[in-house]
Amino acid sequence: MNKPLKQHLIDPEICIRCYTCEMTCPVEAIVHDDNNVVVDADKCNFCMDCIPVCPTGSIDEWRVVERPYTLEEQFGWAELPAQGEVQAPAGETAGGDELEAAMAALLAEAHKGAGGKARAPATAAKPSVNLYNLGKPAVAKVQGNFRLTSDSSGADVRHIILDFGSQHFPVLEGQSIGIIPPGTDANGKPHLPRLYSVSSPRDGERRNYNNLSLTVKREDKGLCSNYVCDLKIGDEVQVTGPFGATFLMPDDPSARLLMICTGTGSAPFRAFTMRRQRAAAGTSGDMTMFFGARTPDSLPYFGPLAKIPDRLLKKHLVFSRIPGVDKEYVQDRMMVEQEAIAELLADPKTHIYICGLKGMEQGVEHAFKNIAESTGLPWEATRDAMREEGRYHVETY
Ligand code: NAP
Repeated sequence: MNKPLKQHLIDPEICIRCYTCEMTCPVEAIVHDDNNVVVDADKCNFCMDCIPVCPTGSIDEWRVVERPYTLEEQFGWAELPAQGEVQAPAGETAGGDELEAAMAALLAEAHKGAGGKARAPATAAKPSVNLYNLGKPAVAKVQGNFRLTSDSSGADVRHIILDFGSQHFPVLEGQSIGIIPPGTDANGKPHLPRLYSVSSPRDGERRNYNNLSLTVKREDKGLCSNYVCDLKIGDEVQVTGPFGATFLMPDDPSARLLMICTGTGSAPFRAFTMRRQRAAAGTSGDMTMFFGARTPDSLPYFGPLAKIPDRLLKKHLVFSRIPGVDKEYVQDRMMVEQEAIAELLADPKTHIYICGLKGMEQGVEHAFKNIAESTGLPWEATRDAMREEGRYHVETY
């Protein structure tokens, strides 16, 4: 009989196919086919470089097996197999106790900001994932392309509306889709899709239409963002997805949402807000948003946001580059609003969502720790319990 070994796997249900892990792996152990992104057990050396770069935590899956799952087996999965009966005797896993301890330490470090592996809210609807893949993308038609930021702001952020016609393309708020830019890369291979969060609610950008919207910022020399920001009405776009099974909103109408974002990280929160607005009758849970941008005219949806009444959405719009005004980040405003946040942290109905720049994670985490501990709540334990209950969600790139 083979010695049991620990195998690194990726959860195909949660993976959003951003391919960041594949691009990061120094030994090329992570590969993909049209369907899944998987780890080659023959090549993986447990270096853990892929763990902190994964925006969802789908990368953090391990099984003790007698025979490693092959690439072909993993490519065929729609979900992970359960852990079988195999027991890993101490010191007899891939590299023994030392490796185990090193892995545990690395994982703890990698998950510091995200607070560990993501879980969906208990009352969230079940999302559809990976209905369209690289080999069989959906074809959407562009219905709209509107600039959300002023010409003088320096940021070109677009509201893009895609229509799926008669194709079945169900999405839930918080999910992402992939867009395949046309053409080929330097090796003559088709480009990989780029991921964008959906910014419209599940019943469509226009209610009961089979369309959705994205919030896309033109990046200097960005291959896909320039393609998307230049799309014209009627253009056809190849789409993969939908992806994401954890960064979802609770269906419980009494759930309270605390949403913290920077820039285009606001996309899922537009979707959450519209979902709540449309289902307003019977909703008792409140929503609070901390939203950071450089200036008001570079903050996506500034105008429409300002019109949403405070009783539905408490808005804290903070700006980092207003001439003559001190720089302010979302975490600074959280400290100003610490009483309100402390009250939310103490309420088991509260769900926390953080989305946007990777760099914000640390500052936001620090603010939460300060606020929680000033009221006697141990932050790490509180956060970890919230995460286990599907009430703490981080998606940063
Ligand atoms: P941006 O304009 O570069 O930044 C937005 C604001 O965040 C600015 O005010 C910026 O301030 C501030 N900021 C910079 N560093 C910060 C830090 N450490 N802590 C707190 N605030 C900080 O943003 P963007 O270009 O729209 O980028 C948004 C990010 O969200 C991208 O990285 C994108 O990939 C990501 N995103 C994620 C998702 C998702 O996870 N589903 C969806 C959409 C977008 P200064 O520049 O003045 O320092």
